[in-house]
Amino acid sequence: MMSDFIFVCEYCHYLRSIHEVSPLCPRCRKMTLYYPKISFDFRTLLDSLSWETANGIWAFSSLLPPIKEHLSLGEGFTPLQKFRQLFSDLDILFYIKKENLNPTGSFRDRAAAIMVSHALSLGYSKILCASDGNLGASIAAYASAAGMQATCVVPSNILLGKYAQISAYGAKISEIKGTLQQAIQDGFQRCLNSDYYPATAEHNFLSIEGQKTISFELYIQMKSLVQDDLRKLGLVIPLGSGSLMFSVMKGFLELKEMNVINTLPHIFGVHLTKSHESVQTAIFEPHDNFALMPLEKIQSPYFEQSLKQLPQFSGTLVEVSHDEVLKTSKDVARSEGLFIEPASAIVIAAIPKILNNKYYKENMPLIGIITSSGLKSQNLTEQTFNQGKIDATFLLKRHSSIKFKILEFLDDHPGSHGYFIWKHIGKGKITRQAVYQHLKELEEKKWISRSTTTANGRKIAVFRLTKKGHTLLKLIKEL
Ligand SMILES: [Zn+2]
Repeated sequence: MMSDFIFVCEYCHYLRSIHEVSPLCPRCRKMTLYYPKISFDFRTLLDSLSWETANGIWAFSSLLPPIKEHLSLGEGFTPLQKFRQLFSDLDILFYIKKENLNPTGSFRDRAAAIMVSHALSLGYSKILCASDGNLGASIAAYASAAGMQATCVVPSNILLGKYAQISAYGAKISEIKGTLQQAIQDGFQRCLNSDYYPATAEHNFLSIEGQKTISFELYIQMKSLVQDDLRKLGLVIPLGSGSLMFSVMKGFLELKEMNVINTLPHIFGVHLTKSHESVQTAIFEPHDNFALMPLEKIQSPYFEQSLKQLPQFSGTLVEVSHDEVLKTSKDVARSEGLFIEPASAIVIAAIPKILNNKYYKENMPLIGIITSSGLKSQNLTEQTFNQGKIDATFLLKRHSSIKFKILEFLDDHPGSHGYFIWKHIGKGKITRQAVYQHLKELEEKKWISRSTTTANGRKIAVFRLTKKGHTLLKLIKEL
């Protein structure tokens, strides 16, 4: 049974066809969201749904826009994990929905499954998205399975693990010297009047359609525990750009529209203390700690929408500090066997605060949505090297990086002096001063060490790799 899907522009009420992919409304030229109108019997779907053999998000295809191709890498149907240790003294029921178990390690696979399928259905061979990591990896993976060429526009502060992941799937990476917002704008411009399918989440409403399937699964997973009364349930969701929160809200609102549920769950949207102003203005402050996803000014159509809808969910915003999140991400790995991206730990760090919130009722099961795996995060390298920010550009553009060549050279020729190094790897390409500058920076990062030796009666500085430098070099070569 096909659902009745009509996309309506919220500004001019233009009825949009599923075949139109431009992010702008064809009539009023505004960037806009579209609301499908659905009429469907969800319970019929439930009767035939098999959690074990489901074809990813397409198990809910009757609740998704009618798209011919159904590409899946097995996304969705992620399990819940009940916490055993971390909050054992609080007497609460806390679960997480493990979106980190999706094919590329994040909830964005749900969005990629539908957008890449859509692109395939329309005959595109090229797809482009702007992202600071998770969506880029998802689009890259799904495009590779679809035989399409993906291009990811990324900001220069992208996390190392995510950069590596995108390039592993064979996507072209276009690095913008700027913020995520600038990458999004760049991606937007490139998609206009070109043969790229636009897959940036902020510019493609289908991303929401894919991600809303989280709610359908949550309903199935929790309905017996809350006896179908969703008011007994609390969902804890990172606010971020609003994309995930808006998607989850949309899923539950659709269930309500279909009379599957009569009540809505509570939603606690969690954000960092420092991004407090963003709540009013949708402007994120940049943050200098690399371990969390940098919060930037992102113009997301979903941000304001999700805040607007929050009262409908008897919901509220909860803020946690940067330090609380970092501590939690370590605690959760050590007490629940869960290695997640630090940014994902935001929902867990919020739990003690939610217990004091007026919307929290005793014995209310809480579910935090974990968005992404720790394996993607630069934090992994941070823990290995116990140092400050590693410059991803340096690490990953290793073939053209002079620093990388210096490390490699010193590995083969320990105890070399600056001139010798320049003569072998820099001469004709860069100045001696530049080599000395690189050596100084490598020394500051404690990847090489300096000692003094005497040659021809003269004291000269010689360099060799530190233990940390050796490990780093090994890691870069393995990437
Ligand atoms: Zn319009």
